[in-house]
Amino acid sequence: MVKPPQQPSIYSLTLPQLREVLVNAGFARFSGDQIYQWIYKNLAFDPDLWSNVSVKARSFLKENYSFTLPKVVWNGHSTDGTRKFLVAMIDGKTVETVAIPAKNDRLTLCISSQVGCAIGCTFCHTGTMGLTRHLSAGEIVGQFLVITDWLKRHVNPDARLTNIVYMGQGEPLHNFDNVKNATEIFLEDKGLGLGQRKITLSTSGLVPQIEKLGDFPPVNIAISLHAAHNQIRSELMPINKVYDLERLFKAIKMIPLKAHRWITYEYLLIEGMNDRVEDVTALNQLLDPKVSKINLIPFNEYPESAFKRPSETRIKWFQKELMNKGFITTIRTTMGTDILAACGQLKSQQSKLNLWVEESVSQFDI
Ligand code: SF4
Repeated sequence: MVKPPQQPSIYSLTLPQLREVLVNAGFARFSGDQIYQWIYKNLAFDPDLWSNVSVKARSFLKENYSFTLPKVVWNGHSTDGTRKFLVAMIDGKTVETVAIPAKNDRLTLCISSQVGCAIGCTFCHTGTMGLTRHLSAGEIVGQFLVITDWLKRHVNPDARLTNIVYMGQGEPLHNFDNVKNATEIFLEDKGLGLGQRKITLSTSGLVPQIEKLGDFPPVNIAISLHAAHNQIRSELMPINKVYDLERLFKAIKMIPLKAHRWITYEYLLIEGMNDRVEDVTALNQLLDPKVSKINLIPFNEYPESAFKRPSETRIKWFQKELMNKGFITTIRTTMGTDILAACGQLKSQQSKLNLWVEESVSQFDI
């Protein structure tokens, strides 16, 4: 097992934090801007390449910060173009990160925020792992950097990730400060410069953290709702026993909607459980169609899953009923099912890691 470095990761620093570090050490403030350009625009991760940054500033950073990125140790390619990556952190812990193509050259990275997850949703493969630890901001940003680098080397030199969804392993708001820092790094114009509308933060409904969203960059917000009745939601998501629908919606009303415009509600459709007439009625009573979009996610069955996917007719019927009530309602296309990369199916298989590492070393010389 590799010992984690003592130094903090350079990729955990927002631009204002990096400038402050440099100024406090007696270096020019603008060196921070130059370094951001090298790392995030040129993907030059070796400080020796930073030709316009002083040697002293580079030495100072090398002594005090870690430049090690996570490593891609396995990848799978679905017939629909989705690519799933197993990404190892410096301590050997792994998370899964998925790149999902869409029309208009969109390439969305579904990013992980924790190793495992504490929330324990009963439909979720990841939820069976429990929480091992939070990822640092540098490890979250590192997933974006290594996957971009990998795609450029192995697929297309012009490959570019255009969107981010925090829908990989973990509950992002459980790791609020690190996810906030990482999001500020993704948004920084002098670096990656992703737009606020290109990033979606998805939460299972951690009420105290939702109440703090006024202090989070105004990215898209998605709430995993999955049921409009407390009894069914508690069955699917144990967090509902702590923060029920009433408390959840009291907190959602505090989200500054001018910045966020819409809230997207993710709704996992499960046969016989939440795909009935009374579920349409309850959704209609709970949500305001003027500020709510509903994204239906037909359940992806996986080995040992206890729930069933509704028929295509039932899925279409449910969508139509909601649309008739004025809701923008989409059905999420299921991508990557042949490599278990679809929503709720992410789960690192640590036991296979050694095998994957060996395969990857021989294939890609990591
Ligand atoms: S669905 Fe999301 S919040 Fe729920 S257990 Fe899975 S990873 Fe955690």
